[in-house]
Amino acid sequence: MHLDFPVIIIDKDYRSESTGGLSIRALAKAIEKKGFEALGVTSYGDLTSFAQQQSRASAFILTIDDEDFREGRAEPTVASLRAFVKEIRCRNEDIPIFLYGETRTSVHIPNDVLRELHGFIHMFEDTAEFIGRYVIREAKAYLDSLAPPFFRALTHYAEDGSYSWHCPGHSGGVAFLKSPVGRMFHQFFGENMLRADVCNAVEELGQLLDHTGPVAASERNAARIFCSDHLFFVTNGTSTSNKIVWHSTVAPGDVVIVDRNCHKSVLHSIIMTGAIPVFLMPTRNHYGIIGPIPKEQFRWENIRKKIESHPFARDVKAKPRVLTITQSTYDGILYNVEEIKEMLDGAIDTLHFDEAWLPHAAFHDFYGDYHAIGADRPRCKDTMIFSTQSTHKLLAGLSQASQILVQDSQERKLDRDIFNEAYLMHTSTSPQYAIIASCDVAAAMMEAPGGTALVEESIAEALNFRRAMRKVEQEWGADWWFKVWGPDDLSEEGIEERAAWILKPGERWHGFGMLAEGFNMLDPIKATIITPGLDVDGDFADWGIPAAIVTKYLAEHGIIVEKCGLYSFFIMFTIGITKGRWNTMVTELQQFKDGYDQNLPLWKVMPEFLAKNARYAGYGLKDLCKQIHGIYAANDVAHLTTEMYLSDMEPAMKPTDAFARMAHREIDRVPIDQLEGRITSTLLTPYPPGIPLLIPGERFNATIVRYLRFARDFNERFPGFETDVHGLVKAVVNGKPVYSVDCVR
Ligand SMILES: *Cc1c(COP(=O)(O)O)cnc(C)c1O
Repeated sequence: MHLDFPVIIIDKDYRSESTGGLSIRALAKAIEKKGFEALGVTSYGDLTSFAQQQSRASAFILTIDDEDFREGRAEPTVASLRAFVKEIRCRNEDIPIFLYGETRTSVHIPNDVLRELHGFIHMFEDTAEFIGRYVIREAKAYLDSLAPPFFRALTHYAEDGSYSWHCPGHSGGVAFLKSPVGRMFHQFFGENMLRADVCNAVEELGQLLDHTGPVAASERNAARIFCSDHLFFVTNGTSTSNKIVWHSTVAPGDVVIVDRNCHKSVLHSIIMTGAIPVFLMPTRNHYGIIGPIPKEQFRWENIRKKIESHPFARDVKAKPRVLTITQSTYDGILYNVEEIKEMLDGAIDTLHFDEAWLPHAAFHDFYGDYHAIGADRPRCKDTMIFSTQSTHKLLAGLSQASQILVQDSQERKLDRDIFNEAYLMHTSTSPQYAIIASCDVAAAMMEAPGGTALVEESIAEALNFRRAMRKVEQEWGADWWFKVWGPDDLSEEGIEERAAWILKPGERWHGFGMLAEGFNMLDPIKATIITPGLDVDGDFADWGIPAAIVTKYLAEHGIIVEKCGLYSFFIMFTIGITKGRWNTMVTELQQFKDGYDQNLPLWKVMPEFLAKNARYAGYGLKDLCKQIHGIYAANDVAHLTTEMYLSDMEPAMKPTDAFARMAHREIDRVPIDQLEGRITSTLLTPYPPGIPLLIPGERFNATIVRYLRFARDFNERFPGFETDVHGLVKAVVNGKPVYSVDCVR
């Protein structure tokens, strides 16, 4: 494989005609002759930014000479050298760093700095060729050490160029070359992606399905990095990881304890396994932000009471098989896992934390016990801990890259054979090898100290964004400005103490009421931005800016946000964030404010939206906000959506039985107005927020029907702002749309 990792040389004389300049350029030339690029710079400018170069370099050579140690200069020279070494080493322990200088100079370098170096190169003692060979040998050894097991094997295989007689049918990409459109595809994705797209008949790569060879070595490597006892890569997303965890431990008729605010894959798991779900109810504030499940609900006495009053669960004698909670909600709420373990060890067999949004937490002390599995975390006596993580959501994984982490208990170890039967049930027999490689590489990237530095940078950038938003408010947006949801007191700089992000009982900013002390924290890398118009009590102001308008505006200006609610939307600071990328967000929001204040015409500020929705021709930005806000306020939508999620959902059938009625067509397609009292066969999920509202087997209550009526009427009147309710079936009768839900007959 051709690798493009230059040797970076830092020498203030790099371009000068002095002896030093000539000598360093001779070294650069010798390095280039050996096939490595040498990149010379005369200074590193801002050190922290420069240190990012560690990810693209194969070695650093730093020149230092006697001049630098003249009277009075020794101290600053050593200080800057030390700072350089520290900035590199806090990201990368292994990259070779060489000092290049005159012989006498080396005695000035203190030991703590020398220790971090790969060598001191004596300027005039050896030939440039000799030194070049030495540098390149070290650089190569370093690069050779980088690739984790599976990625290494895959690149070797793809390079090898052997002819394949096995699937996939495109034979390393050759098939694509036989047609023009195929060639386009080939050119776009490139040779390597296609050569590396191999099938599981290739023995030297090992098998994902039975965890052998390089795949297994990679999973072990990742387990070590994530500090879990077992780790399994999953190539079909955390949607599949959740189903695997469930099918490995839940059977028909089992009682399971589930966060009502869960991803639909967990509800699918309930349906597929035939379990009887007993739900824990999270709090909500009137911004529509879902809060934590109060600590009281986790106490075994309270769970037991819930089971005893549940129409189907109360007859089950066995203890619940699994508890699944969303660990990091969309808005970034986390639970103290050790407290949950303490409350439920032994009472429930498996605690499953759906950490789709939290794979980064193990790599920074900031998160403490507020994630499931990590270094030095105590084992439960009896209960097993599972975490499912979407590598692709916050780390550097390809879409669908996911993993399952397991911590054994003191008394039980995971039976990997039994577990794998469930794994096989949900995994394709033709897994995508590029996804496996990305799981492997994403894990290797998080190895200390690099991983810690990456997470630290995400947190730091997220905090800088929050500070920048407050600054705008103080300097510019005094009349109105967007708020970033979070604690009121933020320090001026740096990463704060975790304590600042703990949700304290009764604080107004969160609006979740009297939470237990220390039970929850907010992950600052999730930034929920609140638009004006609604306060945390659910009261509408005279004017307001529905978030959907802001996000549509942003989309037209090249910013796609993660999720949008009524008066809030949210963005994330993944490890892919670059310094100051959030600046564009801040400036676009300022542009929006300008546009709003001046009521600029939509044809000017949102032309694409207008082209699709001619109904709003002649509107200004402010007019549009006013109208949509008015409708929301008139219908008291904030209270309505909060109430509907908190309303009593009466289970009338087991979810799996209600769902099965669909397969047998024992259902009626019931229009919205007749839904009250009927039992749904399907999941009903409004977007936003994308959290399932009603689950197969539950009855429609009046509040939910009222909401659906509102959504229907609103959608008719305001095209472009439709609330999409997944589970509603649309039909056109006499030229008018009719929305129905498939209900049990
Ligand atoms: C996204 C998500 C999933 C599913 O993950 P995919 O990798 O998209 O399949 C599961 N749980 C939660 C909480 C999620 O947000």
